[in-house]
Amino acid sequence: MAFGGNTPYIPPESPMLKQSSQEVPLEEITSEKIQGIINEMMELALEERAKERMVGLAAPQIGVPLQIILVDMKISPERLDFSHPPEVFINPKIVWKSDEMEEFREGCFSTGSLAGMVPRHKAIHIEAYTPNAEKVKLELEGYTARILQHEVDHLNGLRFPDRIINFENLHWVEADEIEEYRANFENWPKKCSKEEWLSFIRAY
Ligand SMILES: [Zn+2]
Repeated sequence: MAFGGNTPYIPPESPMLKQSSQEVPLEEITSEKIQGIINEMMELALEERAKERMVGLAAPQIGVPLQIILVDMKISPERLDFSHPPEVFINPKIVWKSDEMEEFREGCFSTGSLAGMVPRHKAIHIEAYTPNAEKVKLELEGYTARILQHEVDHLNGLRFPDRIINFENLHWVEADEIEEYRANFENWPKKCSKEEWLSFIRAY
């Protein structure tokens, strides 16, 4: 495990990470229960972001199988600024995606010590609800679109290694190697094969 210790994250082999999450009924968005879950996710994200990590979070990652995600809408790899809160999206739907794809680095709190180069749609349009139950429509591209696709995948039981086509691009990276990886990912020697990934999430 990348971050070890007593964390709220469910472990990589948990079946919940491979299941689809339920929509939040619209009339329940402003309920105490859902607002409590949002607050818990936000608190966790702010804690992680104080350590300069976590650009997105999906509710199933902390054992809640509901369609709630947090996404950093401002960050970019060129400007790793964690000083603002992420935004909350409920029942997010990708309603359009560009044919054009691009590959970039991703990691995840639900895949242990793995990082890799993941192909994603370069641009997407989404529809979702805010914590006030207001419907929003957004057009996203680049890194923001990437984060959102990663988090929506969690709601459909997928993680970033499931999107990797060339497993030369899936790498073992320990938490204390992340800085080094950002600089050196193109020549990272510790590769994780597809078989290793599949047995990793079946293990324990
Ligand atoms: Zn993730």
